[in-house]
Amino acid sequence: MIVVPTFREMLAAAKAAVREIEPVEAEREIEAGGAVVLDVREPDEYEQGALPGAVHIPRGTLETSVEGRIPDKSSHVVIYCAGGTRSAFAAKTMQELGYADVASVIGGFNRWKDEGRAWAAPQALDPEQRNRYQRHLLLPEVGEVGQLKLLDAKVLLLGAGGLGSPAALYLAAAGVGTLGIIDMDVVDASNLQRQILHNTDRIGERKVDSAKKTLTLINPDVNVVTYDVRLGADNILDIIDGYDVIVDGTDNFPTRYLVNDASLLKRIPVVHGSIFRFEGQATVFNPFEGPCYRCMIPEPPPAELAPSCAEAGVLGVLPGIVGSIQAVETIKILLGIGDTLQGRLLAYDALEQSFRNFKVHRDPQCPACGPDAGEIVIAEYDDLCMPHAVAPPTAG
Ligand code: ZN
Repeated sequence: MIVVPTFREMLAAAKAAVREIEPVEAEREIEAGGAVVLDVREPDEYEQGALPGAVHIPRGTLETSVEGRIPDKSSHVVIYCAGGTRSAFAAKTMQELGYADVASVIGGFNRWKDEGRAWAAPQALDPEQRNRYQRHLLLPEVGEVGQLKLLDAKVLLLGAGGLGSPAALYLAAAGVGTLGIIDMDVVDASNLQRQILHNTDRIGERKVDSAKKTLTLINPDVNVVTYDVRLGADNILDIIDGYDVIVDGTDNFPTRYLVNDASLLKRIPVVHGSIFRFEGQATVFNPFEGPCYRCMIPEPPPAELAPSCAEAGVLGVLPGIVGSIQAVETIKILLGIGDTLQGRLLAYDALEQSFRNFKVHRDPQCPACGPDAGEIVIAEYDDLCMPHAVAPPTAG
C-alpha cells in the first residue's frame, strides 16, 4: 500500500529535518557576517520589501538556479519566506542538494518585520528599463542585479574627445547611471573626424554640452554631470571624489601623472587608453592591487619624443576601438566580472590588424604606490611636456 503523506506531515518532516531559527537568532547570525540571506518568496512579495542584501530565488525555481547563485555549498545560508513554511521546504531541498549549513527563519519576513528588524524595498527595474536592457538581462553575468549596479554606478570620463566619445556613448547606452565628463574645449570641425559625440551643428559649442545632449538622447536614464574646467591639482580631488571608475582619455603626461596620483589617494580604478597614428593601448590601473601609471612609466619621455606633445596624426577609427575597449573594462570593473587589463597592456596595431598583450608589473620601488611611497602630494607637472600652453584634458 502506498501511503501518501498529507501536506501537514510533509511540513512536519521538513521542519524536523532542518534547523529552524527565530528572527532574533537570524539577525544575530547575519550581523556576525558571512551569512548568505536567501529570500524564496514570489517576485511580487519580494518587491514589497525584503531583508537588506538578500539573494532572491523564488521557491519554484530554487532547484534550477540556486547552484548558480550560491555556488559555495559550505556557505551559511539563512532562508526566509513570508511565514516560515516555504523556507522550511527550501532548506530541506538545499540540504538534499548538498548545502551543509542552512537555516529557516521561523515566522519568516512577516515576523521579522513585525518585530521591527531592518528591511527595505529592493530596487527593481521598471518595465521600460526591462525592455531597454533586455539583452543585458539575458546574460546571467549581468542580469537584473548587474543592471541595477550599472544604474547606480558613477563613471568619470576625462575628456569628451576621441577616446571619451565611444567610451561615453557605450557606457550611456549600457545604462551607467551617472557619467561625469570633464573637458574645457569647444567643438571644432577638425574634431569630427573621430570625436563621434559631436556633430557639425555643434561646432563652436562647449564639448561638455554637446556630449550631454548626445548622451541624453541615447539614454534618458543617464545623469550627465559636466565639468567645463581644466583638470588641475587644485580641483582634481574634489572632482573625482565619489566616482567608481575613471576613464582616462587624456593625451598628455602631466595630466596622466596627476590623475594617477589622485586616483591612488582616492583608491579609484583608472581605465587608461592612448592612441598615436595607427596604434592604440589600453590598460587598467587598480590602486594598490595592480601596477599604477608610474609603475609603467616612471619618467615622462623628453618633450621632443613624447608623441602627444606634438600635433600627431591619428586614424579616425582608432579611438573608436580603444575607447570601446575602455568601456568594456569599465563595465567589467563595475560588475566584478571577467579578467580586467590590470597588470596587462593591450596594444593594438591597426595596420597589422593585431592585438598584443604585454605584462606590466607593479614596481616595488614605485614612488607613488610602493611600500616606501611617501605621502602622496598632488602637484602640477606642467613643464613635462608643453612648455607654455597648459593642455586641456582632451583625447587626440
Ligand atoms: Zn606604482
